[in-house]
Amino acid sequence: MLIDHLNRQLRERADQALTRTRRTAESPCAPRQTVDGRDLLAFCSNDYLGLAHHPALVEALAEGARRFGAGSGASHLVSGHSRAHATLEEELAAWMAPCIPNARALYFCTGFMANMALVPALSAQGATIFADKLNHASLVDGALMSKARLHRYAHRNLAVLERQLSACDTEIKLIVTDAVFSMDGDLADLPALLALAERFDAWLVVDDAHGFGVLGTQGRGSLAHFGLRSERLITMGTLGKAAGVGGAFVAAHPTIIEWLVQTARPYIYTTAAPPAIAHALSASLQLIAGPEGEQRRAHLHALVAQLRGELSKLIAAHADLGWSLADSATAIQPLIVGSNAAALALSAALDAQGLWVPAIRPPTVPVGTARLRITLSAAHSAQDVQRLVDGLAVAAKELHA
Ligand SMILES: *Cc1c(COP(=O)(O)O)cnc(C)c1O
Repeated sequence: MLIDHLNRQLRERADQALTRTRRTAESPCAPRQTVDGRDLLAFCSNDYLGLAHHPALVEALAEGARRFGAGSGASHLVSGHSRAHATLEEELAAWMAPCIPNARALYFCTGFMANMALVPALSAQGATIFADKLNHASLVDGALMSKARLHRYAHRNLAVLERQLSACDTEIKLIVTDAVFSMDGDLADLPALLALAERFDAWLVVDDAHGFGVLGTQGRGSLAHFGLRSERLITMGTLGKAAGVGGAFVAAHPTIIEWLVQTARPYIYTTAAPPAIAHALSASLQLIAGPEGEQRRAHLHALVAQLRGELSKLIAAHADLGWSLADSATAIQPLIVGSNAAALALSAALDAQGLWVPAIRPPTVPVGTARLRITLSAAHSAQDVQRLVDGLAVAAKELHA
C-alpha cells in the first residue's frame, strides 16, 4: 500500500542521514534570526546584499500593494499583466542591454519556472542540449522535460564539451550552464563557453542566480563580470536572492522572448505574481545599481576574503579532519567535509553554539562531498565572520576528542 511503501523509503533515507527538515523562522531573513524560539547567527541565505529586510524594499512592497492590490488575479496572457510587471521588464531589459544587444526581458514567478519554461521552449523543434553536470536542478529538469537530446559534460570540462559539439549535427544547439555553481561557488568559464558557442553556431544559456546583483559593474551579473556581449547569450537571473524579493527573469533576443510568451507553458498557465512584488523589484534594481549597492558589494567581497583567509588557516591546523575549501571567490563558501554524518555533526556542533550553517548532502551534491554551505551577506559584519570561524575551531576540537 502506498503509505507503507513511502514510510519504508522515508526510513531508508533516515538511515542514510538524508532526512531533510525545515526550520521555522519567526523573524525576517537577516544574519540574526529567531528560529524555532532560539536566536541564531545565520550563514545560510542567498540574500547576498542583505536586501530582503531593507526598509526601502519593505516600503516599496507596501506601496505596490496599495497601488496595485494584493494579487494579480490572472495569468499574464489573460488579464494579470500589470503596469508594475511591464515597467520592471523594461528596466531589466535596459539593465541587460550592455551584455545582450536589443535584449528584451520576461518576468517569471520563480527561477525554477523560468528554467522549466526556457529550456524546453527553445528545444521544441529538435535540438541538442549540452549541460554542465553540476547545473542546478531546474536546468536539469528543464532539459529532461524538453524533446531535445541531452549531453552532459563533466563539471567545467570544456574539452569534453568541444568534442560533443563537434560531433553534433543538429541545427539547434544550446549550451546550458550555471554562471556561479550554487553548491560550490565557482564560476563557469563563460568567455570560453561563448567562444565555443560562436565556433559551433550554438546558443549559450546562462543561469545567473548567484551572480546577479553581486558580480560585475553595478552588480549586473556574471556576463558583465567577464565583459561579454553577444546576441547568442540568453540569461536567467533570480530575483529572490541578491535582489531580496522574489521571482526571476529571462533576458534574450526579442524573438526568443516573444517565443516564450507565445509557447512556454510554465509562463502561460500560471497566475502572474502579485504586481506589488514587481514594484518592489524596481526599487531593488535601483538600490543594486546605485552607490548603496556598490558599498554592499565591496563589504561582501571583503567578508569573503576574510573568511577564506581564516578558514585556510583553520583547515591547515586540523588537516587530519580532511576538510577542504571550494575554489570560490563568491559569497558561496562551502566547507567540504565528506560524509553525510560528518556534515550533520559539524552543522549540529555549530548549532549548539548558536550558529546556523546548513549541511548539504546528496543528491544535491555528489556522494562523498557533503558539506557546510556557508553563505555570506553584506548584512554580516566582520565580527559575525569571526564568530563563525571561532565556532568552527571549537567544533574541530570537539570532533578530535
Ligand atoms: C535558486 C536557483 C534557481 C531557482 O530560482 P528560484 O527563484 O529560487 O526558483 C535556479 N538556478 C539556480 C542556479 C539557483 O541557485
